[in-house]
Amino acid sequence: MKKNSKFPKLAKKDEIAKIKELFLEHYPNSVTELNYKNIFELLIAVMLSAQCTDKRVNIITPKLFEKYPTPQDLANANIEDVKEIIKSCSFYNNKAKNLIGMAKMLVQNYDGKVPLDQKELVKLPGVGQKTANVVLIEATNANLMAVDTHVFRVAHRLGLSNKKTALETEKDLSKKFKTNLHQLHQGMVLFGRYICKATKPKCDKCFLKEFCKSKESFKAR
Ligand code: SF4
Repeated sequence: MKKNSKFPKLAKKDEIAKIKELFLEHYPNSVTELNYKNIFELLIAVMLSAQCTDKRVNIITPKLFEKYPTPQDLANANIEDVKEIIKSCSFYNNKAKNLIGMAKMLVQNYDGKVPLDQKELVKLPGVGQKTANVVLIEATNANLMAVDTHVFRVAHRLGLSNKKTALETEKDLSKKFKTNLHQLHQGMVLFGRYICKATKPKCDKCFLKEFCKSKESFKAR
């Protein structure tokens, strides 16, 4: 199957409204599957989850959180020790560098606290818009969309976007859904992870079957 070879028809206004309604009905109060006890741990878990499964991150984080419970502890960490703990995660070299850099910046510029503001969050090393939005969605129920691999695929299969990048798709979804974006984000992630899977989607269990435009495995550029 060619990636992004042919974009399906876009969903019409009334279809978008119905898709939104059904997502909210099926996923009214969903939250992330990442384990965390405070915002600092949430930020670390979300940073580790880029290109890595939540399941894997949840295996790694207990040891990491125990050894470095505060930004001060992580800021003073030895990078080789951090790498050793997170080495089963993809891109662990870069992630270790970014985690320590992020903690240093929290200590130096933010009084050791995670700023709950998108413009400030993206200033932290290794934190892009998607990571910032996921943290804000989870921590504050902010009306924001974040597009990961699941949301991207689901959005394209349902004709909610025909854009090639995650950021453009995020704009499309935000514009089309307008409200309840945090719930829709969480719902689309779970729907993509467990029903509308990349390979062998469970179409027989799909509550959005009538709106499906394609079964291609769309991936962001
Ligand atoms: S019918 Fe299948 S491919 Fe289409 S949205 Fe549902 S689960 Fe995904």
